[in-house]
Amino acid sequence: MNLSFDNTQNAFAYKSTPDLKKAKFLISVIQNPIMVALATKATPLLMKMGLPINGILRNTVFKQFVGGETLEESARTAKLLGSYGVQVILDYGVEAKEGESNFDEVTAHIIEAIDFAATQNNIPFVSVKLTGIASHVLLENLNEAPRLRSGIHDSESENAAWQRVRERMYAICDVAQEKGVGILLDAEETWIQDPIDRLAIELMKEYNQEKVVVYNTYQLYRNDRYHFLQLSHKLAKEGGFLLGAKLVRGAYMEKERARAIQMGYPSPIHINKEATDADFDAAAKFCIDNLGSISLLLASHNEASNIVITNEMEKLGIAKNDAHVHFSQLYGMGDHITFNMAVHGLNVSKYLPFGPINEVIPYLMRRAEENTSVNGQTNKELVLLKKELARRNSKK
Ligand SMILES: Cc1cc2nc3c(=O)[nH]c(=O)nc-3n(C[C@H](O)[C@H](O)[C@H](O)COP(=O)(O)OP(=O)(O)OC[C@H]3O[C@@H](n4cnc5c(N)ncnc54)[C@H](O)[C@@H]3O)c2cc1C
Repeated sequence: MNLSFDNTQNAFAYKSTPDLKKAKFLISVIQNPIMVALATKATPLLMKMGLPINGILRNTVFKQFVGGETLEESARTAKLLGSYGVQVILDYGVEAKEGESNFDEVTAHIIEAIDFAATQNNIPFVSVKLTGIASHVLLENLNEAPRLRSGIHDSESENAAWQRVRERMYAICDVAQEKGVGILLDAEETWIQDPIDRLAIELMKEYNQEKVVVYNTYQLYRNDRYHFLQLSHKLAKEGGFLLGAKLVRGAYMEKERARAIQMGYPSPIHINKEATDADFDAAAKFCIDNLGSISLLLASHNEASNIVITNEMEKLGIAKNDAHVHFSQLYGMGDHITFNMAVHGLNVSKYLPFGPINEVIPYLMRRAEENTSVNGQTNKELVLLKKELARRNSKK
């Protein structure tokens, strides 16, 4: 399909020149590991001390990576993206806070986001992080509880808490199904992932009978996940439901490796990037080859992987806008991929977090750190931003 990501005019058409300049400045700053280390330590402290840094944050990292503080503000961003053929995955970006009333509050916000998504024509998905609506300790205990795996767990209070988590997810999925919005269940750390996977399969069985409402996330930096994807597919076929598969490489590599060393178990992460890349592309091809029974959401800023999959679609005669294949990048990253894909008529979306500035700080810090640790890609973004600014300058 002759897809190229080098057209900067397409990539940044939605940004004004002052916004492009801001993005260039911000990306050069967050490329510097010392600056990022300083900022990630200092920002929460400064906020705790009550210093007025919200204004600075709002005009810099927040503007680059977040849709807005409220749904109404995000609606503006979503509309702008929509006018370039780009879809949106809405994410209530507030980081997990422990406590049942907080979990209920997050559930209500997610349902509100689904209701809102249903009124827009370019928001097909809402994402859900289970740690937003379930206790981390509970998930960790359930992950380790061998008896729960066979359906029996002898802690009454934990069984009751898990039942409440299930009820929250069913409430979310009921509304999503009714309103025709997809639910993307995020993948998290290996030591809490097992209950998330079990719940995802239970929900897919319930809601993915005629079309895919629920997607589970597969982190292909894990050395067991390609196999787990194949097993999930087998389970779906045997259980008579459709599989929703969101593929990512995985966001917690350093943490996973450090914990494995500290606790003395084999690292669940592939030994190198090449092995992760090979499994990611193989898993994506597996989904494309089984498109009748799988809906795929390929979430990646990796140019090569996106090209491999669009080529595979072309080879198999799959339409660019096939409803079962979606691509996605985070808002504020990979615009050259998103907007060029949109120009080609592929289903592509931005993952758009929203929430009060104070509460999305941890998300922002992760983005800054991620941009430092995936330095090669950030470099490329900077080169493209400069190229587009030069192109606009030459037109004056
Ligand atoms: C829409 C969207 C949703 C997402 N949702 C989730 C989610 O639910 N859960 C989650 O964990 N992450 C999620 N992510 C983040 C994702 O997992 C990656 O961290 C991020 O996208 C970078 O990977 P990449 O494919 O874009 O780019 P690339 O730059 O090609 O890959 C970088 C990734 O490769 C892997 N890697 C790097 N070095 C090595 C190495 N030495 N050995 C082995 N592997 C290595 C790591 O996973 C690293 O993040 C999401 C990303 C997007 C775009």
